[in-house]
Amino acid sequence: MAWRCSGRTNAELIQNLYTRGLITSPLVRDAMSSVDRAHYCPSSPNAAYEDSPQPIGFGATISAPHMHASACESLLPFMPEGKGAKVLDIGSGSGYLTHVLANIVCGADGKGDGKVVGIDHIKGLTDMARQNMQRSKEGRLLLETGKVELITGDGRKGYAEGGPYHAIHVGAAAKEMHQSLIEQLERPGRMFIPVEDEDGWGSQWIWVVDKDKDGKVSRKKDMGVRYVPLTDAPT
Ligand code: SAH
Repeated sequence: MAWRCSGRTNAELIQNLYTRGLITSPLVRDAMSSVDRAHYCPSSPNAAYEDSPQPIGFGATISAPHMHASACESLLPFMPEGKGAKVLDIGSGSGYLTHVLANIVCGADGKGDGKVVGIDHIKGLTDMARQNMQRSKEGRLLLETGKVELITGDGRKGYAEGGPYHAIHVGAAAKEMHQSLIEQLERPGRMFIPVEDEDGWGSQWIWVVDKDKDGKVSRKKDMGVRYVPLTDAPT
């Protein structure tokens, strides 16, 4: 189904995802429309508007747009625009989703009150994400105002200094449901996390973990997925 949504331009790609129901929220559509995916896959500019993952170097890939859309839609109810929502994007890689999430919580002009921290364990990638974001005026503004911060570190531990977070996105598959991440969720807050199954077949599922206003945690198993694993940093 992925290739059917591909476009010749960024606008066409996002419109195709919307028309085919892979994006259902106009807010997510607009947040993705205002980030040019080509800025975030500099090594494969001709494939930037395909609805498929693309290599970004360091053995990493930028995820497929329909996966980014589905993560945003899941987290959306916990990320109201202009209300100071805090978001953590773990395995931020290219920085594409970090920028889209910032558009959701700060508005496409970047002027609203919200904050997104992107964390990746490869410094070359956090440096690259910063460069990618600097390709647009809006991206530069988000970095200059500190509404987007890109950190190098082990995402399995989260980033407690910036929390608690209304929304946590995990962009690589975890071996376990890291307790430190659940602790960093705001009340209320939601985490979207791919977790490896214990069935021994290598299957993975998205889990949606909610913390309610009283701190009660509930977990729901969502769709089957294929993500690269969350690992130790390469030496
Ligand atoms: N969401 C990003 C990248 C997805 S690929 C994008 O779409 O561009 C998964 C990313 O997770 C890679 O960039 C990889 O470096 C990162 N990663 C893997 N293990 C990690 C860990 N323990 N801590 C932080 N980042 C990690």
